[in-house]
Amino acid sequence: MKIYNSLTKRVEDFKPNDGNKVSMYTCGPTVYHFAHIGNLRSYLMEDVLEKLLRYSGYDVKRVMNITDVGHLSSDADTGEDKMLKGAKREHKTVMEIAKFYTDAFFADCAKLNIKTPDVVEPATNCIDEFINMIKVLLEKGYAYVSGENVYFDTSKLDTYYVFGNQNEDELMVGVRDDVSEDTNKRNRNDFVLWFTKSKFEDQALKWDSPWGVGYPGWHIECSCISMKHLGEYMDIHCGGVDNMFPHHTNEIAQSESFTGHKWCNYWFHVHHLNDETGKMSKSKGEFLTVSLLESKGYDPLAYRLFALQSHYRKPLTFSYDALDQVASAYKKLKNKINNIPDDGSVDENVVKEWHDKFAETVGNDVNTAMGITLLYDVLKDGMNGSTKKAVIKDFDYVLGLNLIDENAEASNENADVDPELAAFVEDMIAKRKEAKKAKDFALADSIRDELLSKGVVIEDTREGVKWHLA
Ligand SMILES: [Zn+2]
Repeated sequence: MKIYNSLTKRVEDFKPNDGNKVSMYTCGPTVYHFAHIGNLRSYLMEDVLEKLLRYSGYDVKRVMNITDVGHLSSDADTGEDKMLKGAKREHKTVMEIAKFYTDAFFADCAKLNIKTPDVVEPATNCIDEFINMIKVLLEKGYAYVSGENVYFDTSKLDTYYVFGNQNEDELMVGVRDDVSEDTNKRNRNDFVLWFTKSKFEDQALKWDSPWGVGYPGWHIECSCISMKHLGEYMDIHCGGVDNMFPHHTNEIAQSESFTGHKWCNYWFHVHHLNDETGKMSKSKGEFLTVSLLESKGYDPLAYRLFALQSHYRKPLTFSYDALDQVASAYKKLKNKINNIPDDGSVDENVVKEWHDKFAETVGNDVNTAMGITLLYDVLKDGMNGSTKKAVIKDFDYVLGLNLIDENAEASNENADVDPELAAFVEDMIAKRKEAKKAKDFALADSIRDELLSKGVVIEDTREGVKWHLA
Protein backbone atom coordinates (compact mmCIF):
# COMPACT_ATOMS: atom_id res chain seq x y z
CA MET A 1 0.00 0.00 0.00
CA LYS A 2 1.11 3.55 -0.66
CA ILE A 3 0.01 6.67 1.16
CA TYR A 4 0.92 10.32 0.98
CA ASN A 5 2.74 11.36 4.12
CA SER A 6 2.32 15.01 5.13
CA LEU A 7 5.63 14.84 7.01
CA THR A 8 7.70 14.05 3.92
CA LYS A 9 5.25 15.43 1.34
CA ARG A 10 5.66 12.30 -0.73
CA VAL A 11 3.63 9.23 -1.57
CA GLU A 12 5.45 6.45 0.30
CA ASP A 13 5.26 2.70 0.60
CA PHE A 14 3.44 1.97 3.81
CA LYS A 15 5.42 -0.09 6.33
CA PRO A 16 4.11 -0.52 9.87
CA ASN A 17 6.51 -0.60 12.82
CA ASP A 18 5.43 -4.05 13.96
CA GLY A 19 4.95 -6.56 11.14
CA ASN A 20 1.33 -6.82 10.22
CA LYS A 21 -0.04 -4.67 13.02
CA VAL A 22 -1.12 -1.09 12.34
CA SER A 23 -1.72 1.46 15.07
CA MET A 24 -3.89 4.29 13.89
CA TYR A 25 -5.13 7.42 15.65
CA THR A 26 -7.87 9.84 14.66
CA CYS A 27 -8.54 13.25 16.18
CA GLY A 28 -12.16 13.01 17.25
CA PRO A 29 -14.87 15.67 17.27
CA THR A 30 -15.27 18.49 19.76
CA VAL A 31 -18.75 17.61 20.94
CA TYR A 32 -20.34 21.05 21.31
CA HIS A 33 -22.47 20.95 18.16
CA PHE A 34 -23.47 18.72 15.28
CA ALA A 35 -20.75 17.78 12.81
CA HIS A 36 -21.28 19.28 9.36
CA ILE A 37 -20.74 17.17 6.28
CA GLY A 38 -17.37 18.87 5.78
CA ASN A 39 -16.15 17.57 9.16
CA LEU A 40 -17.59 14.19 8.23
CA ARG A 41 -15.65 14.07 4.96
CA SER A 42 -12.50 13.56 7.06
CA TYR A 43 -14.02 10.77 9.15
CA LEU A 44 -15.39 9.14 6.03
CA MET A 45 -12.04 9.07 4.23
CA GLU A 46 -10.30 7.88 7.40
CA ASP A 47 -12.87 5.09 7.56
CA VAL A 48 -11.96 4.13 3.99
CA LEU A 49 -8.27 4.14 4.91
CA GLU A 50 -8.88 1.89 7.91
CA LYS A 51 -11.02 -0.54 5.91
CA LEU A 52 -8.53 -0.53 3.06
CA LEU A 53 -5.76 -1.51 5.48
CA ARG A 54 -7.89 -4.36 6.81
CA TYR A 55 -8.87 -5.34 3.24
CA SER A 56 -5.15 -5.50 2.41
CA GLY A 57 -4.58 -7.92 5.28
CA TYR A 58 -3.35 -5.65 8.08
CA ASP A 59 -4.44 -6.03 11.66
CA VAL A 60 -5.56 -2.51 12.61
CA LYS A 61 -6.13 -0.98 16.01
CA ARG A 62 -7.69 2.44 15.75
CA VAL A 63 -8.18 4.93 18.56
CA MET A 64 -10.15 8.17 18.60
CA ASN A 65 -10.58 10.81 21.30
CA ILE A 66 -13.71 12.77 22.06
CA THR A 67 -12.89 16.38 22.93
CA ASP A 68 -15.19 17.31 25.79
CA VAL A 69 -12.88 19.81 27.51
CA GLY A 70 -10.17 22.33 26.71
CA HIS A 71 -10.86 23.26 23.06
CA LEU A 72 -11.18 27.01 22.59
CA SER A 73 -12.74 28.69 19.59
CA SER A 74 -9.31 29.43 18.15
CA ASP A 75 -7.15 26.33 17.86
CA ALA A 76 -4.31 28.44 19.27
CA ASP A 77 -5.83 28.46 22.78
CA THR A 78 -7.62 31.78 22.58
CA GLY A 79 -11.23 32.78 22.23
CA GLU A 80 -14.21 31.19 23.87
CA ASP A 81 -14.39 27.66 25.32
CA LYS A 82 -16.32 25.62 22.74
CA MET A 83 -18.06 23.31 25.22
CA LEU A 84 -19.14 26.22 27.39
CA LYS A 85 -20.43 28.00 24.32
CA GLY A 86 -22.56 24.96 23.42
CA ALA A 87 -23.88 24.67 26.98
CA LYS A 88 -24.87 28.36 27.11
CA ARG A 89 -26.53 28.16 23.70
CA GLU A 90 -28.74 25.29 24.80
CA HIS A 91 -29.10 26.06 28.52
CA LYS A 92 -27.66 22.69 29.45
CA THR A 93 -24.64 21.52 31.40
CA VAL A 94 -21.37 20.87 29.62
CA MET A 95 -21.67 17.12 30.28
CA GLU A 96 -25.22 17.04 28.89
CA ILE A 97 -23.98 18.78 25.76
CA ALA A 98 -21.06 16.35 25.49
CA LYS A 99 -23.33 13.31 25.79
CA PHE A 100 -25.89 14.63 23.32
CA TYR A 101 -23.40 15.59 20.61
CA THR A 102 -21.28 12.48 21.07
CA ASP A 103 -24.39 10.37 20.41
CA ALA A 104 -25.34 12.60 17.48
CA PHE A 105 -21.86 12.22 15.99
CA PHE A 106 -21.97 8.42 16.09
CA ALA A 107 -25.51 8.39 14.72
CA ASP A 108 -24.29 10.42 11.72
CA CYS A 109 -21.31 8.10 11.32
CA ALA A 110 -23.58 5.06 11.33
CA LYS A 111 -25.72 6.57 8.57
CA LEU A 112 -22.59 7.10 6.50
CA ASN A 113 -21.34 3.54 7.20
CA ILE A 114 -18.37 4.93 9.13
CA LYS A 115 -17.15 2.24 11.50
CA THR A 116 -16.67 3.23 15.13
CA PRO A 117 -12.94 3.03 16.03
CA ASP A 118 -11.85 0.16 18.28
CA VAL A 119 -11.25 2.56 21.16
CA VAL A 120 -13.13 5.82 21.75
CA GLU A 121 -11.91 7.83 24.72
CA PRO A 122 -13.35 11.10 26.04
CA ALA A 123 -10.67 13.55 27.19
CA THR A 124 -12.29 13.91 30.62
CA ASN A 125 -11.43 10.21 31.27
CA CYS A 126 -7.70 10.87 31.06
CA ILE A 127 -6.89 13.76 33.40
CA ASP A 128 -4.25 11.70 35.28
CA GLU A 129 -2.46 10.89 32.03
CA PHE A 130 -2.43 14.59 31.03
CA ILE A 131 -1.03 15.62 34.40
CA ASN A 132 1.66 12.96 34.18
CA MET A 133 2.82 14.04 30.74
CA ILE A 134 2.85 17.72 31.73
CA LYS A 135 4.95 16.88 34.84
CA VAL A 136 7.52 15.12 32.65
CA LEU A 137 7.60 17.99 30.15
CA LEU A 138 8.26 20.42 33.02
CA GLU A 139 11.00 18.17 34.44
CA LYS A 140 12.67 17.91 31.05
CA GLY A 141 12.57 21.68 30.60
CA TYR A 142 10.11 21.72 27.70
CA ALA A 143 7.40 23.50 29.66
CA TYR A 144 7.07 26.45 32.04
CA VAL A 145 4.53 27.97 34.38
CA SER A 146 3.49 31.52 33.64
CA GLY A 147 0.51 33.53 34.84
CA GLU A 148 -0.58 30.34 36.67
CA ASN A 149 -0.96 28.36 33.45
CA VAL A 150 1.46 25.73 32.15
CA TYR A 151 2.83 26.31 28.63
CA PHE A 152 4.89 24.29 26.19
CA ASP A 153 8.08 26.12 25.24
CA THR A 154 8.43 25.83 21.47
CA SER A 155 11.83 27.58 21.52
CA LYS A 156 13.32 24.39 23.03
CA LEU A 157 12.79 22.46 19.80
CA ASP A 158 15.18 22.15 16.87
CA THR A 159 12.27 22.01 14.47
CA TYR A 160 8.82 23.15 15.45
CA TYR A 161 7.21 23.49 12.00
CA VAL A 162 7.52 19.80 11.18
CA PHE A 163 5.02 20.00 8.33
CA GLY A 164 7.02 22.88 6.95
CA ASN A 165 4.32 24.52 4.90
CA GLN A 166 2.75 27.00 7.26
CA ASN A 167 1.80 30.04 5.27
CA GLU A 168 1.49 33.53 6.63
CA ASP A 169 -2.23 33.08 7.26
CA GLU A 170 -1.73 29.96 9.34
CA LEU A 171 1.07 31.57 11.31
CA MET A 172 -1.27 34.38 12.15
CA VAL A 173 -3.75 31.98 13.71
CA GLY A 174 -3.07 33.28 17.22
CA VAL A 175 -4.04 36.79 16.33
CA ARG A 176 -7.01 36.03 14.10
CA ASP A 177 -10.66 36.28 14.99
CA ASP A 178 -10.22 39.47 17.06
CA VAL A 179 -8.62 37.57 19.89
CA SER A 180 -5.78 39.06 21.86
CA GLU A 181 -2.40 37.41 22.21
CA ASP A 182 -1.79 35.67 25.55
CA THR A 183 0.89 37.80 27.24
CA ASN A 184 1.95 34.93 29.53
CA LYS A 185 3.58 33.14 26.59
CA ARG A 186 7.32 33.44 26.07
CA ASN A 187 7.08 32.68 22.35
CA ARG A 188 4.17 33.31 20.07
CA ASN A 189 3.64 29.63 19.21
CA ASP A 190 3.87 28.37 22.79
CA PHE A 191 0.65 26.64 23.74
CA VAL A 192 -1.25 25.83 26.88
CA LEU A 193 -0.82 22.43 28.53
CA TRP A 194 -2.83 23.24 31.65
CA PHE A 195 -5.07 26.20 32.45
CA THR A 196 -5.62 27.35 35.99
CA LYS A 197 -6.09 31.01 35.21
CA SER A 198 -7.93 32.02 32.15
CA LYS A 199 -10.71 34.37 31.36
CA PHE A 200 -13.19 31.55 31.96
CA GLU A 201 -13.93 31.95 35.63
CA ASP A 202 -17.06 29.86 35.17
CA GLN A 203 -15.32 26.90 33.52
CA ALA A 204 -17.59 23.99 34.39
CA LEU A 205 -15.08 21.15 34.54
CA LYS A 206 -12.05 21.55 36.81
CA TRP A 207 -9.60 19.15 38.38
CA ASP A 208 -6.86 19.31 40.99
CA SER A 209 -3.35 19.40 39.66
CA PRO A 210 0.14 20.21 41.00
CA TRP A 211 -0.33 23.68 39.43
CA GLY A 212 -3.74 24.38 40.96
CA VAL A 213 -7.34 23.61 40.10
CA GLY A 214 -7.88 23.84 36.37
CA TYR A 215 -8.29 21.95 33.13
CA PRO A 216 -6.12 20.63 30.30
CA GLY A 217 -5.33 22.35 27.01
CA TRP A 218 -6.68 20.75 23.85
CA HIS A 219 -3.48 19.47 22.20
CA ILE A 220 -2.25 17.37 25.14
CA GLU A 221 -5.32 15.14 24.81
CA CYS A 222 -4.34 13.40 21.63
CA SER A 223 -0.74 12.74 22.69
CA CYS A 224 -1.84 11.13 25.95
CA ILE A 225 -4.85 9.23 24.66
CA SER A 226 -2.95 7.75 21.74
CA MET A 227 -0.04 6.66 23.98
CA LYS A 228 -2.44 5.21 26.55
CA HIS A 229 -3.84 2.81 23.96
CA LEU A 230 -1.20 2.52 21.24
CA GLY A 231 2.08 2.98 23.09
CA GLU A 232 4.93 5.36 22.29
CA TYR A 233 5.19 4.44 18.61
CA MET A 234 2.38 4.93 16.17
CA ASP A 235 1.97 4.15 12.49
CA ILE A 236 -0.70 6.52 11.17
CA HIS A 237 -2.19 9.68 12.60
CA CYS A 238 -5.22 11.11 10.78
CA GLY A 239 -7.12 14.34 10.75
CA GLY A 240 -8.47 17.15 8.66
CA VAL A 241 -5.95 19.36 6.88
CA ASP A 242 -6.85 22.23 9.22
CA ASN A 243 -5.53 20.13 12.13
CA MET A 244 -2.01 20.25 10.72
CA PHE A 245 -1.26 23.57 12.33
CA PRO A 246 -1.28 24.23 15.18
CA HIS A 247 -2.91 21.04 16.55
CA HIS A 248 -0.82 18.25 15.00
CA THR A 249 2.32 20.37 15.08
CA ASN A 250 1.81 20.77 18.83
CA GLU A 251 0.96 17.09 19.32
CA ILE A 252 4.29 16.13 17.76
CA ALA A 253 6.19 18.76 19.78
CA GLN A 254 4.94 17.51 23.13
CA SER A 255 4.89 13.76 22.29
CA GLU A 256 8.45 13.64 20.99
CA SER A 257 9.74 15.86 23.80
CA PHE A 258 8.05 13.49 26.24
CA THR A 259 9.36 10.23 24.76
CA GLY A 260 12.66 11.48 23.36
CA HIS A 261 12.11 9.71 20.03
CA LYS A 262 10.07 9.88 16.86
CA TRP A 263 6.40 9.29 17.57
CA CYS A 264 4.40 8.69 14.41
CA ASN A 265 5.64 7.78 10.93
CA TYR A 266 2.71 8.61 8.63
CA TRP A 267 0.41 11.64 8.77
CA PHE A 268 -2.80 11.42 6.74
CA HIS A 269 -4.71 14.65 6.16
CA VAL A 270 -8.06 15.01 4.44
CA HIS A 271 -8.76 18.26 2.62
CA HIS A 272 -11.71 20.59 3.04
CA LEU A 273 -15.19 20.30 1.75
CA ASN A 274 -16.21 23.77 0.60
CA ASP A 275 -19.63 25.07 -0.16
CA GLU A 276 -20.17 27.55 -2.95
CA THR A 277 -19.29 30.45 -0.66
CA GLY A 278 -16.00 28.92 0.51
CA LYS A 279 -14.92 26.89 3.50
CA MET A 280 -17.84 25.22 5.25
CA SER A 281 -18.53 26.34 8.80
CA LYS A 282 -21.10 25.89 11.52
CA SER A 283 -21.71 29.59 11.85
CA LYS A 284 -22.12 30.98 8.36
CA GLY A 285 -24.33 29.89 5.51
CA GLU A 286 -26.50 26.78 5.63
CA PHE A 287 -25.43 24.39 8.40
CA LEU A 288 -25.08 21.25 6.32
CA THR A 289 -25.68 18.17 8.45
CA VAL A 290 -26.53 14.58 7.57
CA SER A 291 -30.01 15.13 9.04
CA LEU A 292 -30.55 18.14 6.81
CA LEU A 293 -29.66 16.07 3.74
CA GLU A 294 -32.05 13.33 4.90
CA SER A 295 -34.84 15.85 5.43
CA LYS A 296 -34.36 16.89 1.81
CA GLY A 297 -34.79 13.26 0.74
CA TYR A 298 -31.16 12.27 0.18
CA ASP A 299 -29.82 8.88 1.17
CA PRO A 300 -26.74 9.63 3.37
CA LEU A 301 -24.85 7.03 1.34
CA ALA A 302 -25.27 9.21 -1.74
CA TYR A 303 -23.10 11.70 0.14
CA ARG A 304 -20.62 8.90 0.86
CA LEU A 305 -20.42 8.16 -2.86
CA PHE A 306 -20.05 11.90 -3.54
CA ALA A 307 -17.01 11.96 -1.22
CA LEU A 308 -15.53 8.76 -2.67
CA GLN A 309 -15.63 10.12 -6.19
CA SER A 310 -12.93 12.66 -5.49
CA HIS A 311 -9.46 12.35 -4.03
CA TYR A 312 -9.06 13.08 -0.34
CA ARG A 313 -6.10 15.39 -0.97
CA LYS A 314 -8.09 17.75 -3.15
CA PRO A 315 -10.59 20.30 -1.88
CA LEU A 316 -14.13 19.29 -2.84
CA THR A 317 -16.98 21.68 -3.48
CA PHE A 318 -20.44 20.71 -2.35
CA SER A 319 -23.56 21.75 -4.25
CA TYR A 320 -27.05 20.30 -4.36
CA ASP A 321 -26.77 19.98 -8.14
CA ALA A 322 -23.67 17.85 -7.78
CA LEU A 323 -25.28 15.78 -5.03
CA ASP A 324 -28.43 15.29 -7.17
CA GLN A 325 -26.32 13.83 -9.94
CA VAL A 326 -24.54 11.46 -7.58
CA ALA A 327 -27.79 10.45 -5.85
CA SER A 328 -29.32 9.53 -9.18
CA ALA A 329 -26.21 7.63 -10.26
CA TYR A 330 -26.23 5.82 -6.91
CA LYS A 331 -29.82 4.64 -7.36
CA LYS A 332 -29.12 3.45 -10.88
CA LEU A 333 -25.97 1.68 -9.76
CA LYS A 334 -27.73 -0.16 -6.95
CA ASN A 335 -30.60 -1.09 -9.19
CA LYS A 336 -28.26 -2.42 -11.82
CA ILE A 337 -26.36 -4.48 -9.27
CA ASN A 338 -29.48 -5.90 -7.74
CA ASN A 339 -30.77 -6.97 -11.10
CA ILE A 340 -27.74 -9.15 -11.73
CA PRO A 341 -29.07 -12.70 -11.92
CA ASP A 342 -27.69 -15.34 -9.54
CA ASP A 343 -26.54 -17.61 -12.34
CA GLY A 344 -23.65 -20.03 -12.16
CA SER A 345 -21.46 -20.58 -9.15
CA VAL A 346 -19.02 -18.11 -7.63
CA ASP A 347 -15.57 -18.39 -9.22
CA GLU A 348 -13.31 -17.73 -6.22
CA ASN A 349 -10.23 -17.26 -8.41
CA VAL A 350 -11.91 -14.44 -10.26
CA VAL A 351 -13.01 -12.86 -6.98
CA LYS A 352 -9.42 -13.05 -5.72
CA GLU A 353 -8.04 -11.47 -8.92
CA TRP A 354 -10.41 -8.51 -8.60
CA HIS A 355 -9.73 -8.25 -4.87
CA ASP A 356 -6.01 -7.88 -5.54
CA LYS A 357 -6.64 -5.41 -8.34
CA PHE A 358 -8.89 -3.31 -6.10
CA ALA A 359 -6.39 -3.43 -3.20
CA GLU A 360 -3.60 -2.27 -5.50
CA THR A 361 -5.60 0.40 -7.31
CA VAL A 362 -7.31 1.97 -4.30
CA GLY A 363 -4.23 1.22 -2.21
CA ASN A 364 -2.32 3.74 -4.31
CA ASP A 365 -2.87 6.65 -1.90
CA VAL A 366 -6.54 5.85 -1.22
CA ASN A 367 -7.67 6.35 -4.79
CA THR A 368 -11.37 5.85 -4.17
CA ALA A 369 -12.40 7.39 -7.50
CA MET A 370 -10.46 4.64 -9.29
CA GLY A 371 -12.19 2.13 -7.01
CA ILE A 372 -15.56 3.33 -8.31
CA THR A 373 -14.26 3.04 -11.88
CA LEU A 374 -13.23 -0.56 -11.17
CA LEU A 375 -16.73 -1.24 -9.87
CA TYR A 376 -18.19 -0.14 -13.23
CA ASP A 377 -15.58 -2.30 -14.99
CA VAL A 378 -16.84 -5.31 -13.04
CA LEU A 379 -20.41 -4.53 -14.08
CA LYS A 380 -19.35 -4.59 -17.74
CA ASP A 381 -17.23 -7.72 -17.39
CA GLY A 382 -18.41 -11.06 -18.81
CA MET A 383 -18.14 -13.11 -15.60
CA ASN A 384 -21.28 -14.89 -14.40
CA GLY A 385 -23.82 -13.12 -12.21
CA SER A 386 -23.00 -14.89 -8.96
CA THR A 387 -19.30 -14.15 -9.30
CA LYS A 388 -20.04 -10.56 -10.22
CA LYS A 389 -22.10 -10.08 -7.08
CA ALA A 390 -19.38 -11.68 -4.97
CA VAL A 391 -16.76 -9.28 -6.39
CA ILE A 392 -19.02 -6.28 -5.77
CA LYS A 393 -19.70 -7.40 -2.21
CA ASP A 394 -15.96 -7.71 -1.68
CA PHE A 395 -15.31 -4.14 -2.96
CA ASP A 396 -18.16 -2.86 -0.85
CA TYR A 397 -16.30 -3.80 2.32
CA VAL A 398 -14.12 -0.75 1.60
CA LEU A 399 -16.59 1.42 -0.33
CA GLY A 400 -19.32 1.00 2.29
CA LEU A 401 -22.16 1.81 -0.09
CA ASN A 402 -24.54 -1.05 0.79
CA LEU A 403 -24.39 -2.07 -2.85
CA ILE A 404 -25.92 -5.50 -2.36
CA ASP A 405 -29.34 -4.81 -0.96
CA GLU A 406 -31.16 -7.78 0.56
CA ASN A 407 -34.48 -6.10 -0.03
CA ALA A 408 -33.81 -5.72 -3.69
CA GLU A 409 -32.63 -9.23 -4.39
CA ALA A 410 -36.12 -10.29 -5.33
CA SER A 411 -36.32 -7.82 -8.20
CA ASN A 412 -34.27 -9.90 -10.65
CA GLU A 413 -37.26 -10.59 -12.82
CA ASN A 414 -37.72 -6.85 -13.31
CA ALA A 415 -34.56 -6.15 -15.27
CA ASP A 416 -36.47 -4.23 -17.95
CA VAL A 417 -38.25 -1.92 -15.51
CA ASP A 418 -37.26 1.74 -15.55
CA PRO A 419 -34.41 2.06 -13.03
CA GLU A 420 -35.99 5.08 -11.34
CA LEU A 421 -39.19 3.13 -10.71
CA ALA A 422 -37.30 0.05 -9.56
CA ALA A 423 -35.26 2.16 -7.13
CA PHE A 424 -38.46 3.71 -5.82
CA VAL A 425 -40.06 0.29 -5.33
CA GLU A 426 -37.03 -1.02 -3.48
CA ASP A 427 -37.03 2.03 -1.29
CA MET A 428 -40.70 1.46 -0.45
CA ILE A 429 -40.11 -2.24 0.23
CA ALA A 430 -37.34 -1.30 2.66
CA LYS A 431 -39.66 1.17 4.39
CA ARG A 432 -42.37 -1.49 4.62
CA LYS A 433 -39.91 -3.93 6.15
CA GLU A 434 -39.00 -1.30 8.75
CA ALA A 435 -42.67 -0.62 9.46
CA LYS A 436 -43.33 -4.34 9.98
CA LYS A 437 -40.32 -4.59 12.25
CA ALA A 438 -41.79 -1.74 14.29
CA LYS A 439 -45.15 -3.55 14.25
CA ASP A 440 -46.73 -0.63 12.40
CA PHE A 441 -48.90 -2.86 10.22
CA ALA A 442 -51.15 0.01 9.16
CA LEU A 443 -48.15 1.78 7.62
CA ALA A 444 -46.93 -1.47 6.06
CA ASP A 445 -50.33 -2.02 4.45
CA SER A 446 -50.57 1.54 3.22
CA ILE A 447 -47.15 1.17 1.54
CA ARG A 448 -48.35 -2.01 -0.19
CA ASP A 449 -51.51 -0.19 -1.33
CA GLU A 450 -49.54 2.77 -2.58
CA LEU A 451 -47.36 0.45 -4.68
CA LEU A 452 -50.45 -1.32 -5.98
CA SER A 453 -51.90 2.02 -7.06
CA LYS A 454 -48.72 2.48 -9.14
CA GLY A 455 -49.19 -0.94 -10.73
CA VAL A 456 -46.64 -2.76 -8.59
CA VAL A 457 -47.58 -6.02 -6.89
CA ILE A 458 -45.52 -7.24 -3.95
CA GLU A 459 -45.53 -10.69 -2.44
CA ASP A 460 -44.02 -11.92 0.81
CA THR A 461 -42.18 -15.14 0.12
CA ARG A 462 -39.81 -17.33 2.08
CA GLU A 463 -36.90 -15.80 0.14
CA GLY A 464 -38.02 -12.29 1.01
CA VAL A 465 -40.22 -9.76 -0.73
CA LYS A 466 -40.75 -10.23 -4.46
CA TRP A 467 -42.40 -7.73 -6.76
CA HIS A 468 -43.57 -7.46 -10.33
CA LEU A 469 -45.65 -5.15 -12.46
CA ALA A 470 -49.34 -5.94 -12.48
ZN1 LIG B 1 -5.75 15.52 17.90
